[in-house]
Amino acid sequence: MPEVGADTPCPCGMPASYSACCGPFHTGDALPPTAAHVMRSRYSAYVLHDEPYLLRTWAPATRPRDVDFDPDMRWTGLEILGTTDGTLFHTTGTVTFVARYTHRGEPGELRERSRFEKADGAWAYVDGTFTDDAS
Ligand SMILES: [Zn+2]
Repeated sequence: MPEVGADTPCPCGMPASYSACCGPFHTGDALPPTAAHVMRSRYSAYVLHDEPYLLRTWAPATRPRDVDFDPDMRWTGLEILGTTDGTLFHTTGTVTFVARYTHRGEPGELRERSRFEKADGAWAYVDGTFTDDAS
């Protein structure tokens, strides 16, 4: 697991320090305002193996009992390819992204369109479909 402190760059790839980006979401000091923010902060949580945050931002209907972290998986970058809705004015939204990784030294990437919904003011991940489509 990488060492991430308050002043180190956020694992989600935004040009911001962890404490100015996903950190406050992970600690619960702030709620991600958009579906893209919760997507980024969940990616960072996978990097940091923050299981409580992943479960907290998972919609109750699809939430697993626990999160399996593959110890051989190293997440190396996130790129948001597109979003639909998912802003302050919506209650649903999608985020299409590519997450890059190395698994036992072999590089790979995961492309997914994730669905999010907002309940009680908090965005949560519903489910995702793998996609080659960049829209
Ligand atoms: Zn971040």
